[in-house]
Amino acid sequence: MSTPFSSSKDWLSRLANHGYRLTEPRRVIVEIIAASDRALNPLEVFDLGRDACPGLGLVTVYRTLEKLEDLGLVQRVHQADGCHAYLRAANGHEHILLCNQCGQAVFFAGDDLTSLLERVARQSGFEIQEHWLQLHGLCARCRDSVR
Ligand SMILES: [Zn+2]
Ligand SMILES: [Zn+2]
Repeated sequence: MSTPFSSSKDWLSRLANHGYRLTEPRRVIVEIIAASDRALNPLEVFDLGRDACPGLGLVTVYRTLEKLEDLGLVQRVHQADGCHAYLRAANGHEHILLCNQCGQAVFFAGDDLTSLLERVARQSGFEIQEHWLQLHGLCARCRDSVR
């Protein structure tokens, strides 16, 4: 298991290396996503960002999230309500657990899908090259709160 926390400094230098001008609103957005332990949708990023940067615009939020996704720093995840949210990208081959109630995200490595994938490949005739796994449920804290 690993926490989703990531270094916003690394991200900012990656963006700068790709010729991206680091304005204050962009910096604020990067810091919010990098430090978040839950997937955030653009409106949530916008709300959080306005506290630190009152002039922040929603368009800037969308564009910055797209740019971070292009650079492979964040990934889009599916949420129980069918909407998309953003979370820092996995380190190597990691899968995601998402809490349906509070949105907490946890990464885990290691899966035992080999026999399943072999069977699916055999039955479908596909050569399977990659997979993407996202599990939904209730985190320990939310399970405690329903009891
Ligand atoms: Zn939860
Ligand atoms: Zn896997």
